[in-house]
Amino acid sequence: MAQMYEKVWMGEGLVEASQAKVSVASSAILYGLSVYTVFPVCIASGGRERVVFRLSDHYERLLNSAKIIGIDDFVQGWDYPHFVSAVKELLQKNAVKSDVFVRATVHVVDEIAGIKSRGLKTTLSMFVYDAEPILSPTGCRLKTSVWRRIPDYAIPSRAKVNGAYVNSVLAKQDALDVGYDDCIFLDTHGHVCELSAANIFIVRRGVLITPDVTSDLLEGINRRSVLEVAAKELGIPVEERSVDLTELYIADEAFASGTSANIAPITEVDSRRIAGGTVGPMTAKIQQFHADLLHGKLPKYQNLLTKC
Ligand code: PMP
Repeated sequence: MAQMYEKVWMGEGLVEASQAKVSVASSAILYGLSVYTVFPVCIASGGRERVVFRLSDHYERLLNSAKIIGIDDFVQGWDYPHFVSAVKELLQKNAVKSDVFVRATVHVVDEIAGIKSRGLKTTLSMFVYDAEPILSPTGCRLKTSVWRRIPDYAIPSRAKVNGAYVNSVLAKQDALDVGYDDCIFLDTHGHVCELSAANIFIVRRGVLITPDVTSDLLEGINRRSVLEVAAKELGIPVEERSVDLTELYIADEAFASGTSANIAPITEVDSRRIAGGTVGPMTAKIQQFHADLLHGKLPKYQNLLTKC
C-alpha cells in the first residue's frame, strides 16, 4: 500500500495524520456522503518544481459533485484561491520531493443529521500519498463485470461521491478474485462504460474511440486531456460514441486513463488478447505524451500546470 505523508489538511489547517478524524455519527460515515477528487503532483524542471496538473478542473469537478448531491455548505464556503493556498501549504509542509497523489474530500460532518444533504456542515480533508499507479504501465488484464455501472438516474457517476464507490469495489473485487487486474463496467444498455476508477479508450483503424459522457461514466480529467490535448497534438482522429463489448474484443489497441491509472495499456479482456498482448503504438505515443505533459516537459501546455 502507498505511503501516506504526515501532515493532513483538515478543515482550516494542517494536523498530524492521526488527528485527522470525522465522527462515526457523521453523514460521511453513515451514508457515504462525501465527494472527492484525486489530483497528481509531479516533480518538474529537473527536480526544482512541484506542479499540479489541471488543478482548477479538479476543483471545478469537486464543486460540481457537491452541487449535484446538494452539499451546499462547501459550494458556498470555499473558493479556488483559498483551495490553491491550502494545497500549497499541504505540499510545502510535507516537503514533497517525489511524484505524489493528493486526495481531497469534502465530508458532510453533521452528526445524526438524517437522510438529507442540504444545510449540513462540511469539512475539507486533503492527504498526500506516493503516486503508485493502480494499473501497470506495461499492460493490464480486464474482466467484464456482472455488476453494471450505476446509472445517472440512480447515483450519478458524474458526481464523484464516496458512497457510489461500493459499485466499483464490487466489480473490481470480482475481477481480482479470478486473477484479473480490474473490471470493465457495462452501462445499463450493455455498452462499454469504464473501469473501476479509470476511463477507457479503444483504437480501431487509426481512430481513437471512447464512450461519450452520457454513458454513465465519470467525466475524467485525463480522458478530456487525451481527447483535447494528446490526440489533437498527435493528429489522431477521435470519436465519442457508444462502444459495444465486441468492439473492445477486436480493437487494435485499448487503454485506460485516469489520475491513479495514468495511461494504462489494456492487453487482455475476458481471455481475449488486445494488441497481441503488447503495448500498441498509438497507446505508447499517448502514454509518453501524457507523462511529458504532467511533468511540465511541453512548454506549450504550461497553462495546465499550477506550481505548488
Ligand atoms: N472513472 C472513475 C470511476 C474514476 O474513479 C476515475 C478516477 N478519478 C476516473 C474515471 C478517471 O478520472 P480522472 O481522469 O479525472 O482521474
